[in-house]
Amino acid sequence: MLPVRVRFAPSPTGPFHIGGARSALFNWLFARHHGGKFIVRVEDTDLERSTRESEENILAALKWLGMDWDEGIQVGGPNGPYRQTERLDIYREYIERLLQNGCAYQCYCTEEELAEEREALLRRGEMPRYLGRCRSLSPEECSRMEAGGRLPVIRFRVPEDKVINIKDIVRGDVSFECNGIGDFIILKSDGIPTYNFAVVVDDHLMSISHVIRAEEHLPNTPRQVLIYEALDWAPPEFAHVSLILGKDRSKMSKRHGATAVEQYQDRGYLPEALDNFLALLGWSPGGEQEILSIEELKQQFSLEKVAKSPAVFDVDKLNWLNGHYIRQSSLERITDLAIPYLEKAGYISTPLSPEKREWVEMVVDSVREYLVCMEEVTDHVHLFFVNKVDIEGDEARDILTGTQVPAVLVAMQKKFAASGELTRTGVKGILKEIGKELGIKGKQLFMPVRVALTGSTHGPDLSQVVVILGKDKVVSRLEKVLQGFSETN
Ligand code: GLU
Repeated sequence: MLPVRVRFAPSPTGPFHIGGARSALFNWLFARHHGGKFIVRVEDTDLERSTRESEENILAALKWLGMDWDEGIQVGGPNGPYRQTERLDIYREYIERLLQNGCAYQCYCTEEELAEEREALLRRGEMPRYLGRCRSLSPEECSRMEAGGRLPVIRFRVPEDKVINIKDIVRGDVSFECNGIGDFIILKSDGIPTYNFAVVVDDHLMSISHVIRAEEHLPNTPRQVLIYEALDWAPPEFAHVSLILGKDRSKMSKRHGATAVEQYQDRGYLPEALDNFLALLGWSPGGEQEILSIEELKQQFSLEKVAKSPAVFDVDKLNWLNGHYIRQSSLERITDLAIPYLEKAGYISTPLSPEKREWVEMVVDSVREYLVCMEEVTDHVHLFFVNKVDIEGDEARDILTGTQVPAVLVAMQKKFAASGELTRTGVKGILKEIGKELGIKGKQLFMPVRVALTGSTHGPDLSQVVVILGKDKVVSRLEKVLQGFSETN
């Protein structure tokens, strides 16, 4: 096999779609697996839709996902520039070559003429395509057109009756009849090349060994192969990765949930969870293993195990993976990730003093097992920040009506008030002691305390809640509930 050189070549025309991130990841993993090079090139020839903002978002998302590149935009390299609009002179040179060897020609057809041709073909039930009106213009005719103010586009002369066979690593042998293709534009009248042309020149000059990209580019591939042949270049290997479908098996779209990488980042998904998830969208290591670290992915990734059938985007699986990585990460990291959400919700303000930071870590630790993504942290921590506890729902209210409840709460309040600094084992000891003294245990003992302190029948471990709230808050919250009892009696 040639030295592996693969590329990710995004068009910066909008948000970074998870499908694009999956293509980037497959390329990156393939390069890293083979000790090859990963190149990032920006395909910005669509001048109207390309923006620097989108380019920056895509590059930032790649970095966030941990995909470093060896050559390309921002990092440079021997085959630059790596932004297509900065390579126009290079394309011009190969356009000239194709004009000279007769594989391309100037076309002066107007929009109206092309529209008429298209409609006529559609009326006859034929595939709309360019029929080659300008194929054999003489130099004199060209000059006359130009004198009349017409600017040419350059079209590629598609050979007649030829069949293009592509050996695709994922899809197997695929054939295309040239007759259905029609002479296509390779350079627009403003001097900007089209995607199919620029991609070939760049992939060749950048010595790309494997083109790994989405299946939607498969119909472009015969056009690209024709250009390789016309320039006497060997095409790279191709691997077209299947579409990503929503759970209802229609093409993944906004209706199925977030489609932009940024949205997942904003909600507090961890990059390693997204990488793990994206890697399994169409690839599997074989066997049952679903949790794979970046290292394992690099070691195990191969194009041979990329499936031909479409991948289904199962957000529940992503959530499960993310929950796993949240629980597995260091508390320090998870706290760092939680802080912006807590701040935005108005619970804390930064910078935090070391004591407050330690306290916030305890808060985050007590709820992290419930989190699907970091954004959800604010849904679970309310109880630590409110001044007044609201008893939530009938179940919680019923618990406080138990006959032994006042005795339990009074005893708790006394013991907590009399104790020194509260620790989790200390709290557990106090609960046990009271249970023994009053002859009750289990739910009857814990639930009233939980409801009195948090307003709810569920939540983090009770001893953790007590320690985080601290003695003063615990005593005063118990006091409030007891006061409520005496007022109603
Ligand atoms: N710029 C193309 C896209 O974003 C790249 C296709 C390719 O990899 O050849 O879809």
